[in-house]
Amino acid sequence: MPESEDESARLRRLAEIDRRHLWHPFTPMDEWEAEDPPLIIERGEGAYLIDTVGRRYLDGVSSLWVNIHGHRRAEIDEAVRRQLGRIAHSTQLGMSQDAAIALAEKLTTIAPPGLSRVFYSDSGATAVEVALKIAFQYQRQRTPARPEKSKFIALNLAYHGDTVGAVSVGGIDAFHAIFGPLLFETIRAESPYCYRCPRGAQARGAETQPCAVCAGEEIERLILERADETAAVIVEPMVQGAAGIITQREGFLRRVREACDRADVLFIADEVATGFGRTGRMFACEHEGVAPDIMCLAKGITGGYLPLAATLATEEIFGAFRGAPGEGRTFFHGHSYTGNPLGCAAALANLGIFEAEGTIAALGPKIRLFWEELGRLRALPAVGEVRGLGLMAGIELVADRESKRPYPPETRMGRRVTLAARRRGLAIRPLGDVLVFMPPYCVNDEEIAWMAGVAGEAIEEVCS
Ligand SMILES: *Cc1c(COP(=O)(O)O)cnc(C)c1O
Repeated sequence: MPESEDESARLRRLAEIDRRHLWHPFTPMDEWEAEDPPLIIERGEGAYLIDTVGRRYLDGVSSLWVNIHGHRRAEIDEAVRRQLGRIAHSTQLGMSQDAAIALAEKLTTIAPPGLSRVFYSDSGATAVEVALKIAFQYQRQRTPARPEKSKFIALNLAYHGDTVGAVSVGGIDAFHAIFGPLLFETIRAESPYCYRCPRGAQARGAETQPCAVCAGEEIERLILERADETAAVIVEPMVQGAAGIITQREGFLRRVREACDRADVLFIADEVATGFGRTGRMFACEHEGVAPDIMCLAKGITGGYLPLAATLATEEIFGAFRGAPGEGRTFFHGHSYTGNPLGCAAALANLGIFEAEGTIAALGPKIRLFWEELGRLRALPAVGEVRGLGLMAGIELVADRESKRPYPPETRMGRRVTLAARRRGLAIRPLGDVLVFMPPYCVNDEEIAWMAGVAGEAIEEVCS
């Protein structure tokens, strides 16, 4: 609790100014304004967020999927301080800078084979914009040129960010439908959302044969049929995150990769959410042993410290952009803060911890415990499905488990459960009625068990 009158007046003022001047992303603002008191974070420590009155919350979604090794990691703090002592920012346009160079070398070393070129930007959405524009321009400038290959194939329920190009390949109606008239046309494949079978076989369980959509046969056919008009396929590998942590079956991604090869279509992997160990491998593509032609990275790249993103491409793609200035083959794209040195320094320190601590290997036992603990929640009547990969889980709440009938959206069940969890000291955020669990990798066994326990209590409190 606030220590003094002065302190509580300061906190009231903070909340008041927020309500008067801030516009929060993805937030119904009337609902936010009614929150009393609003959660205002002041500090972080390892896996915990600490608010203005000193309450601690386990950061159950890694501050929107970005944090990796915890808050206030000494190595990353120190790396950013060291970089601040030299320079905070200089441009990548026509000059370079040592942190960006070192990070590019590191990223190309750990990335799936063949990705040798790094184009920096500052968010997942911009990493995707860059990927789409590179793929489009590549088809016009390759030898021989294929300008008719100008469209993109994307999955239904896809989420690739909120800029207009990224929204064009996105497929979540609740976010994207209103912008329809602004968007370019995208070729859509059905999402392999097995729990709500896209082929209508509601009874189909996880043990039985997948339908053509979930097996990847449908997207494969689409890629082959539309090859002549398609520049690239863009997919969130293994897990469609914002759709509600929808996981792909074994073989799905490999089918997409092989179809792209046969159809002479580029394969863009949007690893913004899945990259940097989130699924238990450094990159989700590794689960299927595939290498994309273009890969988008952001979120975890700086360990959750600073906005930085990278789009990686093969040397073959890069080659189509070579030529004398007058030939007009240059990639005319960039952002003021492209390759920001503070971000690059944080990213290098983040990757340094992966090496020093063997983070990926250490994740194995944690992931097993995470699934064991979350798996118990399957016993609750309101839990329709518990799914995910690595330290990335979604729990879909349903009004009726037998028929998989959802709750009416206006009941805001997902949100109400997360508020009940917050009262117990767990900060999570739902995607509709899917509860998301994505803790920083530094959570220990007790914290994993506690998190699942609190989630169960919150579900029982709200849903029964
Ligand atoms: C979050 C996300 C993005 C967008 O990243 P921002 O940094 O929020 O712009 C893009 N793709 C995927 C798969 C994501 O999860």
